[in-house]
Amino acid sequence: MSKFDDMALKPEILKALNESGYERPMMIQERAIPIAMEGKDLIGCAQTGTGKTAAFALPILHRISEGRRPQALILAPTRELAIQIGDSFEKYGKYLSIRTATIYGGVPYDRQIRALRRGSDVIVATPGRLIDHVKRGNVSLKPVRYLVLDEADRMLDMGFLPDISQIIQYVPAREQTMLFSATMPPEIRRLANRYMKDEVRIDAAPPSTVAKGITHRVYAVPRSLKSRLVGKLIEDEPIQSVLVFTRTRKGADRLAGYLTRKNLSVTSLHSDRTQGQRQAALKGFRDGKFKILVATDIAARGLDIPTVSHVFNFDLPENADDYVHRAGRTARADATGFSFCIVAPEDIDLFNTLEQQVGKETFTWSSHPGFDYLDEPKDSHRADHDRRGRGGVNRTGRGGRAAVAESRSPRKSPAGPPAAPKSSTPKKPFGRKKSKSSGRR
Ligand code: AMP
Repeated sequence: MSKFDDMALKPEILKALNESGYERPMMIQERAIPIAMEGKDLIGCAQTGTGKTAAFALPILHRISEGRRPQALILAPTRELAIQIGDSFEKYGKYLSIRTATIYGGVPYDRQIRALRRGSDVIVATPGRLIDHVKRGNVSLKPVRYLVLDEADRMLDMGFLPDISQIIQYVPAREQTMLFSATMPPEIRRLANRYMKDEVRIDAAPPSTVAKGITHRVYAVPRSLKSRLVGKLIEDEPIQSVLVFTRTRKGADRLAGYLTRKNLSVTSLHSDRTQGQRQAALKGFRDGKFKILVATDIAARGLDIPTVSHVFNFDLPENADDYVHRAGRTARADATGFSFCIVAPEDIDLFNTLEQQVGKETFTWSSHPGFDYLDEPKDSHRADHDRRGRGGVNRTGRGGRAAVAESRSPRKSPAGPPAAPKSSTPKKPFGRKKSKSSGRR
């Protein structure tokens, strides 16, 4: 089956898909939709960017009937993802008379209460706020027939398991449960065993597999020069839009401040910002008002930002799954893109682990004019770092006064116009450990 027309979806849905420019189903849709249309429980092992939203939204929209509301409940880990899923339901259901309410925390209750009391066919929600509404009597979930747990692994990581279990108690009449997750750790399997029946499992892509079409480059640089390198790369590389990941909220603010001072067009997204600021940042980035979005991992999952050409890992993620999610912000829907890792000596052990998990062949070491640190042994960097001292970040890699260091020149003066990045597979910056199996050629 390779066409939406063959899936017996309502003509109103086909019309909306046609208008959205969807010519044929993506792999997860091709496999999941027929199963979901039969009403079977379903586990989709799929990372973001695979088209999983339509994989559950289209069958739900097709099967919702006149009657008591709400009939479908979608749970998502973050507000941004909930908003995005709500928008998708509106887009695909635009020619059906279906109402969607999107419920999440960090905003006043009034509008949500009005939407819930008015009655919605589909509720898309983050768990905590939804429970508040149920407890306050603003909505009853008893009529819900279709339940979706989206980004289930992320919800569990965020500690939502008790909330999910409670919400499941609120939906005793559910006929179908669909669970989507990028990874399948044992807790997810336990969740499925507990709440699903004869579920069919569909793998859109194996876990920890980076999407095709992404070029992964690694840049070696002392920690104190990371921001400076990021600024230079953004200035010199043909970058349309870039999502930069930092580990901490403070780190995101610091880097965004630095890039702003360089007159680059930048905004930031993390959980210290108000919901209004977060939405404005995301919208501004989506609409092209800002070229750079500096974010913590809250933005790594599920967000659909179709125009991202580059992802920068200013701080490396803690594990391969997070890397896959971050990199997955580019090359969405089968396009191509770049994921850059900015690696300081302090990061090298984490990078080695990441490389082992994601696959050695994925990464290419590169350097940028003025930042040629590929051959430097780790210890000389440390010494250099410590000598330059105050501006650097302390040995734990946290805190420090990086901003001071940013005002200094790179150790080697920038050399003329930017050249194409040097691909340097044979090098071992910072005394990288040789892998037992092969080492770098
Ligand atoms: P998702 O993984 O659900 O966030 O979808 C990733 C992107 O693919 C979104 O921008 C969708 O609008 C887009 N998309 C989903 N299904 C299709 C399709 N069949 N054809 C083209 N684009 C699609």
